[in-house]
Amino acid sequence: MRKPVIAGNWKMNKLVGEASELVAGLWEEISGQDAVEAVVCPPFVDLPSVGRLISERGMTLGLGAQNMHWEESGAFTGEVSPGMLTDLGVTHVIIGHSERRQLFGETDQGVNRKVTSAFEHGLQPIMCCGETLKQRESGQTEDVVSGQVKCGLFELPAEWVSGLVIAYEPIWAIGTGVAASTADAQEVCGYIRGLVAAEYDTGVAESVRIQYGGSVTPENISELMAMDDIDGALVGGASLKADVFSRIVMFS
Ligand code: PEP
Repeated sequence: MRKPVIAGNWKMNKLVGEASELVAGLWEEISGQDAVEAVVCPPFVDLPSVGRLISERGMTLGLGAQNMHWEESGAFTGEVSPGMLTDLGVTHVIIGHSERRQLFGETDQGVNRKVTSAFEHGLQPIMCCGETLKQRESGQTEDVVSGQVKCGLFELPAEWVSGLVIAYEPIWAIGTGVAASTADAQEVCGYIRGLVAAEYDTGVAESVRIQYGGSVTPENISELMAMDDIDGALVGGASLKADVFSRIVMFS
C-alpha cells in the first residue's frame, strides 16, 4: 500500500514571517493527520524558521527544499548543498521542476546527478517530469516523459527507485487553473509506472510513488487521488493558504 504524498511548492513566495504564519495555520488544520505524507517546500531562506516551528510543535509535516546542488561543497556561487539542507532538518527536495528546466537550464543529466546526491544524503527526492502543450498536441507526451524519467533514473539502484517520488506535471497545467483531466493524468502516471517496471521490475514499480501536479485544488484532489496510479500531488498556488492546502491534504 503506497502512502499518499502531498507536497506544497511555495515557489518564490512568503517572507519569513509569512512562512511561519502559514505553517502555524497548517498546524491548526492538519497537525494530527497521518493518512497522508504532507510536505511543505518553502524558499531556502524560510527553511530554518519553518523547520524550527515544525519541530517545536511536533508536527508530522515534511520539510522540503525546491532545489539543491549535487555537490557537497565548493566553488558554486549561489548554490545550496544537500548537506546544508539536512543540517536544517530538511527531509524532501524537489528536483527538476519544469520552471528550473525552462528558466534555469536544468538538464536531465543534472536531474540525475541531483537525485543521486539526494539519496546519498538521505533526502527524499521528488523528481519532476512533464510535457509542454506543444509536445502534447503533437503526440510527443510519452516520448518526452520517457526521456526525462529514464535519464533521471540512470544507474540508480532499485532500492532507491522503490523509495522515489516522481511528480508528473504537464507544463500546460501548471499555474493555469486548467488541470489535466483525471483520465489524462492517470494515463501518463500509469505509463510512468510501466516505464519503471520495464527498467527495473514490477515490485519497484509498485513501490514508487507518482504524484500529479498542475492546478490541483480542494475541488479536484479527490477525483485525482481515486486513480490507480496517482499517489499524491505536487501543489503550487493552492499550497499558499493554510485552509486551502489543508483541504487538499485532508481530501479523503
Ligand atoms: C507546481 O508549480 O508544481 C504546480 C503544480 O503549480 P500549480 O499547482 O499552481 O499549478
